[in-house]
Amino acid sequence: MGASLGLYNYLIQKNHDVKVVSPTDYPDFLTWMEGNDKVIIHKEKNSRAAIALKEADVIFCLDFNSADRVEKLEQDLLKSAAKKVMIDHHLSPQSFCDYTFSFSDSCSTCELIYHFIVQMGDKDFLNKVIGECLYTGIMTDTGSFRFSSMTADTHRIIADLMEAGVNNAKIHELVFDNFSEERTRFLGFCIKDKMVVLKEFNTVYISVTKEEMRKYNHQTGDAEGIVNYGLGIKGIRCSAFFSEREDLIKISFRSKDNFSVREMASKHFEGGGHKNAAGGKSKASLQETVERFTELLLLYKDELTQ
Ligand code: 5GP
Repeated sequence: MGASLGLYNYLIQKNHDVKVVSPTDYPDFLTWMEGNDKVIIHKEKNSRAAIALKEADVIFCLDFNSADRVEKLEQDLLKSAAKKVMIDHHLSPQSFCDYTFSFSDSCSTCELIYHFIVQMGDKDFLNKVIGECLYTGIMTDTGSFRFSSMTADTHRIIADLMEAGVNNAKIHELVFDNFSEERTRFLGFCIKDKMVVLKEFNTVYISVTKEEMRKYNHQTGDAEGIVNYGLGIKGIRCSAFFSEREDLIKISFRSKDNFSVREMASKHFEGGGHKNAAGGKSKASLQETVERFTELLLLYKDELTQ
């Protein structure tokens, strides 16, 4: 959303007619960004989303590398006669766009949107609202500027965004101090009652059922970030979070150093992502999915424990 709304706020300054389409809804802690009220969420307004894609001259595909990542929007996207421009930082981009700007070394698509604006010769257009969107995406994708993907150049970009008017403390508060009481208690429940530590594999996992999520009045985004807590335990190199959704199990993986959760996600859980942050899904039951994961750890034991 940071990349989409950052680009949106730039393109409207250039007098383009811009529509932002998102396949799904997204967490409340992102809805303060300028332009949020204009976002067409496909799940809620599927015909408006389809029309927007059909009528577009140009479609920017931001922060995804294969058409199936936009789920039910995929067919409308592929059918559209618009020129398609991918701007993304995931490995192995698929060739469904006319122009593919894929930089997997970059920490975030927001960083790439910054470069896009600058390369268009429009650095002067970077203002507070664009800055707020891009700052948010860089901050969340780098774990608040701590991951190895965070370079000196990225710090310089952050400095530029702050000089454009971004209030860093305000954004951290809007994103990280904006949870409901139930979500904070859900986090406590996950860590205290649901976290399993497999010391022999330097791995932690948490799995939650639909029922448990319902009990804590689960809202979109409430599970976000919980997977990271496992990595906070000394020696842990892999963390997984399994949540039971309507028709599938959604999985988030995180890792440290050279252990690639992307490989595990893409080989075994119909997923992908980055080396240290990936996701996937499973059509099996929650219990079967967790069992499959723990069995797989045997395959990866050497890498996890070396
Ligand atoms: P998260 O765990 O935060 O949902 O996702 C972490 C990373 O994995 C993100 O870069 C996201 O795009 C990617 N990812 C999550 N789920 C999937 C999936 O089902 N398929 C693919 N290809 N990537 C995913």
